[in-house]
Amino acid sequence: MPSAEELYRRYREKDQVLRQVRKQIKHNRQERPVRQRDWTPDDDEDWEDMEVARSERVLPRGEQERRKAMWDMALKRLAEEEQSGEKGQAEAGPALAAEERTTGPRRGVVVEVSTGLCRVDVQGEIVLCTVRGSLSVAESGFTNVVAVGDEVTVLLDGAGRGVVQSVLPRRSALTRPDVFSPHLQQVIVANADQLLAVASWRNPALWPELLDRYLIAAERHSLQSIICLNKVDLADSRQECLAALEPYTRLGYRTVLASAVTGEGVAELRELLGGRTTILAGLSGVGKSSLLSAVQPGLKLRIAEVSARRHEGRHTTTQVNLLKLEMGGQVVDTPGIREFGLSGLHRSELARFYPEIAAVAGCRFANCSHIHEPGCAVRMAVREGRLSAVRYDSYCKIRKTLPET
Ligand code: GDP
Ligand code: ZN
Repeated sequence: MPSAEELYRRYREKDQVLRQVRKQIKHNRQERPVRQRDWTPDDDEDWEDMEVARSERVLPRGEQERRKAMWDMALKRLAEEEQSGEKGQAEAGPALAAEERTTGPRRGVVVEVSTGLCRVDVQGEIVLCTVRGSLSVAESGFTNVVAVGDEVTVLLDGAGRGVVQSVLPRRSALTRPDVFSPHLQQVIVANADQLLAVASWRNPALWPELLDRYLIAAERHSLQSIICLNKVDLADSRQECLAALEPYTRLGYRTVLASAVTGEGVAELRELLGGRTTILAGLSGVGKSSLLSAVQPGLKLRIAEVSARRHEGRHTTTQVNLLKLEMGGQVVDTPGIREFGLSGLHRSELARFYPEIAAVAGCRFANCSHIHEPGCAVRMAVREGRLSAVRYDSYCKIRKTLPET
């Protein structure tokens, strides 16, 4: 039985195959005219454009199938290599293998998922697993059996591979409409506790609408939210940062002012992340990786890949990475949350996620949208400064992007 380190190294090497395929996909795409998205806060169309179903429709004919085939091919190659490697080891160390076989099912946490395969952390050892065929998706109501973060039982085969036997009940599930069957849900991350929404004071500037989308997404998936405002070293004063976050602190959100440059807020983040599973959200460039490596030196997000995928923008798989923290807990890095967080939400439900708006009484019409109606108490409150104009503004912007019914 090779050491955990050795196994991990081998899996990483095999990851190169997948990376090459991704590179190839990206390369191929660059030769065609691609609609480039410019991620600026003022672009009202962004959200609709990122909506999964829509984005899939703009794929060139056959592109989706072609990518899927390439992906499958890469995985098949991975699995074959793994299997032949396995034979070699079995011959080399039959005694150890036999001993391992007698240990029975082990508990583990899924750290990475690709079609039909996953990597499971079994007491610190990363094991490539298939999923038992009889595990059914139908009863779970989701289109995937295992997701990153799932606690599973694994039967090890003694040669560094395993089979997922069962998935333990989930405490939470971050879901999105399935890419291929949008009426069904796909679990992106299981068992997360909280969401860390990272924004930056400048470069890029704080974008309240995006922040609100994260908060709504978290609320809808029963996750606690923490708001981290990074790059406060670039602000003229702490006061202006605190003032920008005031509507959120007033609502009871935990907020952290941070700077990866000066180290401000890093200890606080460390404390908030310890022992929990945290989904990381935030625009590219706000300083997520800088903050994480300040929290734990050496911890790396796969930024390059993530941003490549986002510019590609039409992906069929959502890359999710689980990063283990030394102090316990883990951080989940997924580019997906901004695009699926609000799927299925209707206009009339939005005010529910703005408690300060929902709390305003006295609109002339009971079903007031607070946008244009005469006698709207919400707009009155905004005019009089009793309600945050910034929050109201993002309410209006988000509402516009939601379906009527
Ligand atoms: P990510 O895309 O969210 O992971 O962002 P990065 O961590 O890659 O940071 C993007 C850029 O912002 C880099 O050039 C960092 O050096 C810079 N940066 C990150 N944190 C801070 C900060 O607190 N203050 C300042 N001034 N720059 C920062
Ligand atoms: Zn109203």
